[in-house]
Amino acid sequence: MSDIDKDVGSTVEAVAQAIIAHADELTELDSAIGDGDHGHNMKRGMQAVLDDLDALAAKPWDEALKAAGMQLVMKVGGASGPLYGTLFMTLGKTLDTPPTRAGLAAAFEAAIEALMARGKAHAGQKTMLDVLVPAAAALKEGKGPAEIAAVAATACAQTRDMLATKGRASFLGERSIGHIDPGARSSQIIIEAIAARSGDVK
Ligand code: ADP
Ligand code: MG
Repeated sequence: MSDIDKDVGSTVEAVAQAIIAHADELTELDSAIGDGDHGHNMKRGMQAVLDDLDALAAKPWDEALKAAGMQLVMKVGGASGPLYGTLFMTLGKTLDTPPTRAGLAAAFEAAIEALMARGKAHAGQKTMLDVLVPAAAALKEGKGPAEIAAVAATACAQTRDMLATKGRASFLGERSIGHIDPGARSSQIIIEAIAARSGDVK
């Protein structure tokens, strides 16, 4: 994430494969505090992105991210599809080509703002935002990929003790406490996959 020296095709491919590899885990997490479809939803969306990879890889970063976001909106479904779709489409709209670190930090911030507006949510409600917001802050502060991945991992683990006040898990009230949020985990997986691309995170 510090220097974006990788091409968009292989980066998007790494993200899609990481999500697909963790689909069962995401479904298990969503079975505990949701309806058990998060892994399946995300796998379907990321598979559509992979099916489109050749076309996607031929595009510049901004266009490729917009195209990936469109696929996620169309194929993921649930609450998370439009939210991840908004995230990737806004990243595509705001990222400069070729991407720079400062540009990525600004684009990530704008993408999270769009996601928050779309979902009428903010950090602290036990959602994907509880990973995305601290990860974006770490990027803006100048932290390196390994540190950003570590921030995301800690933030994801911390959702276990949180009370869900947004999304399906909020229907459980106090019973949502004691489980990691599935969307927080999928966001962490995505951040980890991108951070690992820069070389110093295994
Ligand atoms: P659904 O809840 O419709 O079954 P998914 O299971 O695919 O959708 O996704 C659930 C995840 O979406 C949650 O774990 C949470 O992280 C995230 N989420 C739900 N609602 C919101 C929201 N309004 N803002 C941000 N994230 C949300
Ligand atoms: Mg669900």
